[in-house]
Amino acid sequence: MATIIPQPGILDIAPYVGGQSRIDGMAEVVKLSSNENPFGPSDKARAAFARTVHSLHRYPSTDHADLRAAIGEVHGVDPARVICGVGSDEIISFLCNAYAGPGTEVIHTEHGFSMYRISALAAGATPVEVAERDRVVDVDAILAACTDRTRLVFIANPANPTGTMIPAQDAARLADGLPDQALLVLDGAYAEYVADFDGGARLVETRENVVMTRTFSKLYGLGGLRIGWGYGPAPVIDVLNRIRGPFNLSQTQLDTAEAAVRDTEYAARCHSENARLRAWMVEALNGLGVATDTSHANFVLARFPDQAGAEACDEYLKTQGLIVRKVAGYKLPNCLRITVGDEPSCRRVVHAIGQFLSGAA
Ligand SMILES: *Cc1c(COP(=O)(O)O)cnc(C)c1O
Repeated sequence: MATIIPQPGILDIAPYVGGQSRIDGMAEVVKLSSNENPFGPSDKARAAFARTVHSLHRYPSTDHADLRAAIGEVHGVDPARVICGVGSDEIISFLCNAYAGPGTEVIHTEHGFSMYRISALAAGATPVEVAERDRVVDVDAILAACTDRTRLVFIANPANPTGTMIPAQDAARLADGLPDQALLVLDGAYAEYVADFDGGARLVETRENVVMTRTFSKLYGLGGLRIGWGYGPAPVIDVLNRIRGPFNLSQTQLDTAEAAVRDTEYAARCHSENARLRAWMVEALNGLGVATDTSHANFVLARFPDQAGAEACDEYLKTQGLIVRKVAGYKLPNCLRITVGDEPSCRRVVHAIGQFLSGAA
């Protein structure tokens, strides 16, 4: 009799649940559930994507040199210490596969991004959850949870789904307080939404134990194409490259991402439009009596008095063709995460929440 069973830990993985994108019986919906850029990628990125149709028979670059050079120029980082992957999810997975495994621990926080736990379990490691303090990463609690088995500590800064941030000096204190064998991973998926913020790049450059991950899925509007990157100390990047598939990114992904990152004017426009609409949405929600934390990203976490309230609001929004994100799976059952969309979408969702709260719903 066959006894075909997966490695320990695999069956503990709860499959990732993405943002809903359709409502039964509704042709037109507004999707504010996956933190996508409502304006999509820049025209230059679209044109680069289209041009790659002429070279689809060619294998892609294996060293991603052109994209790494562009990232280096635009983000002020050393291209030799950049690694590109199939979304930052793949960089997270490389880190777990290279540095964690059976008998080791991977720290993530209470409301942390679910891929940290999934990738840790996939690598056979033990995920360790650390409490946050009022929806903010708690550096002291993380340091207290470290053991001689800790190999990786994942935090997103700004964080998803809370939108909160810890200051640079706290991230530095975390890096400096870790045990010798542990690596701090700063997930900068939303770094582009923060003014004058390097996502942790300088921390990477001044420490031996810090890695930063970044993505083209959010501000650059390329979530569908799957491109991310990591920045770390040379020995760490060398290790990750050893387990990276040589053709992990297609030339279509590489060329489109390069055009996207070089279009700094478009990126700046998306940044400022997000900041403007986020401020408007927060003020409008607060005016309706809906509490929020200060968001540094392209979404707002709306807090309701209880889980029933959040769920009832979500149901009402669906009847209005509006899809937001329930985050009970992130231990925030009384909250809804709402992506900052374009102006009409922001107005629609705030108007609908107002209707819901006034009992008109
Ligand atoms: C969206 C998101 C990512 C991006 O993942 P990709 O694989 O690059 O699309 C990474 N981390 C966090 C916290 C996110 O919210």
